[in-house]
Amino acid sequence: MTEAPYSPSGAMPKAGRGADDTGPRITALETFSTPLVGFVRLTTEDGAQGWGQMSTYNADITTQVFHRQIAPWALGRGIDALEAIVDEIPEREHKYPGTYLMRALAGLDTAAWDWRGKAAGKPVAELLGGSAGELRAYASSMRRDITPEAEAERMLRLREAHGFDAFKMRVGAECGRDVDEWPGRTEAIVPAMRRALGDDAALLADGNSGFSPTRAIEVGRLLEANGVEHFEEPCRFWKLEETAEVTAALDLDVAGGEQDWDLETWRRMIDMRAVDIVQPDILYVGGMTRAMQVARMGAEAGLPCTPHAANLSLVTLFTMHLMRALPHPGRYLELSIEGPDYYPWQDELFVQSPYAVSGGRIRVSDAPGWGVEISPDWLAKSTYQASEADI
Ligand SMILES: [Mg+2]
Repeated sequence: MTEAPYSPSGAMPKAGRGADDTGPRITALETFSTPLVGFVRLTTEDGAQGWGQMSTYNADITTQVFHRQIAPWALGRGIDALEAIVDEIPEREHKYPGTYLMRALAGLDTAAWDWRGKAAGKPVAELLGGSAGELRAYASSMRRDITPEAEAERMLRLREAHGFDAFKMRVGAECGRDVDEWPGRTEAIVPAMRRALGDDAALLADGNSGFSPTRAIEVGRLLEANGVEHFEEPCRFWKLEETAEVTAALDLDVAGGEQDWDLETWRRMIDMRAVDIVQPDILYVGGMTRAMQVARMGAEAGLPCTPHAANLSLVTLFTMHLMRALPHPGRYLELSIEGPDYYPWQDELFVQSPYAVSGGRIRVSDAPGWGVEISPDWLAKSTYQASEADI
């Protein structure tokens, strides 16, 4: 289905917009979506293309936002104007702030970066000031419905198979208001993981907004007593002062920010030292350009960046390129360990998976752009929509 471009009714007249832009003009923005995943293909007037992705989950809704509120502001613009377009869209669509706009914007931004990489014959990491090469990955559990014994057991198996030396467990319950997934799970899993994995393993814990400051500090002390080095999202993420209180009280690193898309919130979070480690999600925050802005803000304040990347769609590959280029990278890449039982949709996305881990390390290839090919079979089964420039 081809849809005519929607004409935004924003304050800025369309005529003349981008008249000074350099680079080939963007002529088509196509989406290939399911309710779970949405890819974007950007084409310029010379026929060159780049692939990106909107954030996963409710990607069919995000796709509608993309064609209504993102594509009209980008079509006809020169590709060199990406940074300006990324800055402008939140203002042109200022009546609609929020995660959907940013999830959709990320599709445009990441497709443009792939276009640039392919045009230059370089991996995106290099365009961002970094290089191809290896990263240390940590094995990231997404599950709370797993006993401490079973979690420790599967981490041991993963260490055996892939050489991981860093592991993240879940504590408390998601937005749990101090009620644990089941009574005593947090107190049991923390020492169980340390016992099973030994003194040398790096351990991380994620609270997913589960605790009050009082309880978070109590759990934080338990984590410290067991040598856990990273305590993620201890308090309700939108309560910056609560997280700041926990960060000030604890010695271990408190990390957070995965949900936050608003750069002004990021500014406040960093200024008040709400966290010790900043964790933008490239696809929640609006793309690579904006994630780099967050990382730079953090670096200027001395805070390392360990981005959030919770599944093996393109978000983790984008994060790999970002981490190879960050001014002040965190210690490791988040790598989801969940398989088809948890993410039944993620295995069929690519012709060849970019996520092979060996010796606990993962590699950003020197292939141009993102260095990955979306599966033609997957694309053929998705819902297609196109917005095209009338130039
Ligand atoms: Mg998290």
